[in-house]
Amino acid sequence: MKAAFINKYGGPDVIEYGELPDPKVNSNDVLVRVKAASVNELDGVVRIGGYKQFVKKFPHILGIDFSGVVEKVGSNVKNISEGERVMGYPIIHDNSCEFCKSGMEHLCLSLAIVGREIDGSYAQLISVPSGNVIQTNLGYVQAAASQLSLLTAWHALTKRVQLKQGMKVFIWGGSGGVGTFAIQIAKLLGAEVITAAGEDWKVSKLKELGTDFVINYKEQDVVGEVMKYTGGKGCDLVFDSIAPGGTLSTSVRMVKKGGTMIVLGTGVKESDLISINLRIFYVNYITMHGTLAGSKKDLLEATRLIRDGKIKPVVDSVMKLEEVREAHRKLDEGKKFGKIILDTS
Ligand SMILES: [Zn+2]
Repeated sequence: MKAAFINKYGGPDVIEYGELPDPKVNSNDVLVRVKAASVNELDGVVRIGGYKQFVKKFPHILGIDFSGVVEKVGSNVKNISEGERVMGYPIIHDNSCEFCKSGMEHLCLSLAIVGREIDGSYAQLISVPSGNVIQTNLGYVQAAASQLSLLTAWHALTKRVQLKQGMKVFIWGGSGGVGTFAIQIAKLLGAEVITAAGEDWKVSKLKELGTDFVINYKEQDVVGEVMKYTGGKGCDLVFDSIAPGGTLSTSVRMVKKGGTMIVLGTGVKESDLISINLRIFYVNYITMHGTLAGSKKDLLEATRLIRDGKIKPVVDSVMKLEEVREAHRKLDEGKKFGKIILDTS
């Protein structure tokens, strides 16, 4: 099969495109003929070696999200049949730990991620445990775009916090995969959305997406603008998905008294760890939640919103699998709005 993989860590140019053996299908696995894969920030972290402790061997195929058709199922697989259209659920889980038993596979004690611990979706075929596919009626591009990013945004805004009508929420990284979903979900729930971008074309697109107030962070003081917009009070919620966490110390200054922060990305290196002013934190009675992906039930709920047309994946571009280096360059340089999709057919 054709695949995009790495044999060493580094920039976009370390990604190779070529022939690799078809994956093995164990008794609990499902082999999927991949039609589309999406590019995630996490793929970039794997590529640069941010997850060396999880990657087991080279060549390693990148890619978390995928959609396609089931080509073969292992002898123990009962929940899915050959020929079905499926999309991925990115969290590999054991179904037996205390978290899995309470429907929180994303906190599994033996958690692994497709495209990190095992070969990923930048390929014509992928073999994953049967718990990592979900039947879908969405189109291939739509389905590939609506996985880890959608799951993360939906779980964060509806399970970790309960976003309500009229709340003011600041969303960092509004132009990204998670951000474009988070903005739409927050609007759907009746919140007032504020975000920031560094380029005028992104500011325009963020307004088109329904954002109420967009700050150009290269030209304006973000905290000052947020305070002006909120009448000096600050936001009910700040959604911080920027990795490394260079925005956290700003976020804490934009939360209103008694407000909430939700944090979903702080980088992977020691040097990415930053400090925040705890004095502001306790004096303003702030609650901070960490969040990571979401459960399979969350993904099913969120994809129903896509099916019903209530939100839509924002697709920056669809590129051929062999253009994967260019796709990662766009990812690294932030020259994208929403999701980049790789056509693997
Ligand atoms: Zn588990």
